[in-house]
Amino acid sequence: MMEYLNRLLVKMHSKPKFKFHAKCKNVGLTNLILVDDILLFSRGDVNSVQMLMNIVQIFSKTIGLVINPRKFKVFCGGMDRDTQNLLCRITDFEEGKLPMKYLGVPITSKRLSLHHYLPLIDKITHRMKHWTTKLLSYAGRISLVKSIVLAITQYWMQCLPLPQFVIHKIDQLCRTFVWTGDTTESRKSPVAWSTVCSPKSQGGKCIINLAMWNKITLLNCLWNLCKKSDNMWVKWVHMVYLKGEDVMVAQVVKDSSWIVKRILELRDQVLHIQSLWDSMLTHEKFRMNAVYDLLTNRDQNVDWRGLCCRNAARPRAVFTTWLICHGRLATKHRLKKFTVIRDSNCSLCHDEEETIAHLVFACRYTYDVWQRILAWINVNHLPLPWNEELRWVMEHTAKKGWKACLLKMAFIETLYGIWHRRNIVIFGPTSHTDIVYSIIDCIIYRGWQHHKIKKHIAHMLS
Ligand SMILES: [Zn+2]
Repeated sequence: MMEYLNRLLVKMHSKPKFKFHAKCKNVGLTNLILVDDILLFSRGDVNSVQMLMNIVQIFSKTIGLVINPRKFKVFCGGMDRDTQNLLCRITDFEEGKLPMKYLGVPITSKRLSLHHYLPLIDKITHRMKHWTTKLLSYAGRISLVKSIVLAITQYWMQCLPLPQFVIHKIDQLCRTFVWTGDTTESRKSPVAWSTVCSPKSQGGKCIINLAMWNKITLLNCLWNLCKKSDNMWVKWVHMVYLKGEDVMVAQVVKDSSWIVKRILELRDQVLHIQSLWDSMLTHEKFRMNAVYDLLTNRDQNVDWRGLCCRNAARPRAVFTTWLICHGRLATKHRLKKFTVIRDSNCSLCHDEEETIAHLVFACRYTYDVWQRILAWINVNHLPLPWNEELRWVMEHTAKKGWKACLLKMAFIETLYGIWHRRNIVIFGPTSHTDIVYSIIDCIIYRGWQHHKIKKHIAHMLS
């Protein structure tokens, strides 16, 4: 159907009385159609608008669809009030005000102001407030931030560069939500947000860095300008702003649109990814993830990177281990440092100060727990001080066999089990279950769902 409307409009282009909208003649642009949203353009004179309306009526009669005037609007620019009123009478449509929303994104003739981005921020806040946030663990909140918030943001980024303020605000919302489960509370984050956003191999949680992703969507536009000659927007930019010059060397014209300026400013960035850029041009495909990895993977990998990746343990157990490895678990020693509490004695043995190194596994209570778990999985080893133990586990889980999988999972479930029991001792309710049995239950449950470990768990239970 829309193809028919397009053909009618193309036929109209050649008629001398019809005048195109400013800068649209060279690309022959009179309409943008996406599913059932239609934008029609012409110069704001009576003849051109009348001709557009005639086409719409022919289309309506042929197809049998009747236009609902309340759903259409006329947007005028650079003309006097009388002409605007006249055009509204000709079309029988109301006058619309810019910015208008097209497919959920604001469209205006000028640079968008900060308040135009508020619907995006409101949408993210709304999603966060509607989740049953109090029931989610840290790991669950990180998953939600990764999957939903960034999907909403990316949708906007595909059309518009986000200003620094907006990116900062969204980062702040995500950060507060991950650490507190709310959007209004704010407290010091245990781990820096830049670390949380870094790749897992560098000790992060792989949440996309919005500022960097924003840059990459603009690089994608630059790549399109270099390669996609059949795209209407690309044709427009080449005709109106670049005027036949090479994209990579063209002068930035002063009256260029602010989006085109932002895109062309990024040409220097291509030098940092030159060989990937050339390869993408050759293969005619822009690889956003590859560009992102290349521009962000600049830090050193952490030694314990293999521990939290592809671990069969529960996500909340992996998260606790991640905090321990960063040295950011909220132990009594750490809370005392921030003057939150005065007593920093270990709640499990009451012998020494509760530091991470004490909890795992200098404490006589936790030493015994880990030793019994090791015995249950048939590993002959005596627990060492934390850093050495971590190194020992990394060495013995470097391979991909079932033994490595089981040890890695048992280690992480034990760390979580100890932390969980410590919290129960402090906050209640009292538990009379042997902690080792609780940890073994979790190992059996998680191992049963893992193809490499299942049969060995069955053998251990028989
Ligand atoms: Zn202790």
